[in-house]
Amino acid sequence: MKGSIDLERIEKAVKEILIAIGEDPEREGLIETPKRVARMYEEVFEGIRYTNEEIANMFDKSFEHPDKDMVIMKNIPAFSYCEHHLALMYNMNITVAYIPNGKVIGLSKIARIVDMVTKRLQLQEKIGSDVAEVIRIACGTEDVAVIIEGEHSCMTARGIKKPGVKTNTVTLRGRFKLDKKVREELFQIIKNG
Ligand SMILES: [Zn+2]
Repeated sequence: MKGSIDLERIEKAVKEILIAIGEDPEREGLIETPKRVARMYEEVFEGIRYTNEEIANMFDKSFEHPDKDMVIMKNIPAFSYCEHHLALMYNMNITVAYIPNGKVIGLSKIARIVDMVTKRLQLQEKIGSDVAEVIRIACGTEDVAVIIEGEHSCMTARGIKKPGVKTNTVTLRGRFKLDKKVREELFQIIKNG
């Protein structure tokens, strides 16, 4: 685990940004803003302090489970921040699937893993590969799939401004990648709700 987030340094930097964009950081509405942003960053970037391995160890309390039936948790809602613009990625729905290899973890743990991985500066594809890696370590299985749909405010609220544009990414590992039948079964289940 890395050390804690440097709140004081964020406050100073945010104050600088306010001045740089032509604002008065001393005016009433902004006077507390650097402090608020620092506290918000502490919360929304908590996952930066932990490696994927450490996150897996936090949530790896598992149960023996001999069945090889696919476990799917659909549409876990999530937010994250893109590493290119520090802009919000929102309306994200993350679907996680895996094939147990002797053990399963609690469903709430999957949501907690998603939560921790998205509390980093991210790219949508990287959220997929990070979640897949944490699930692989926590569940001891190579067969993991992560499907993500999300909107990126750096696309929808600036530049070419395309509100409503969704980005979809699919991360497939193990048999989800190699076995067409397994993959088709997954997409069939997702489609049928
Ligand atoms: Zn971006």
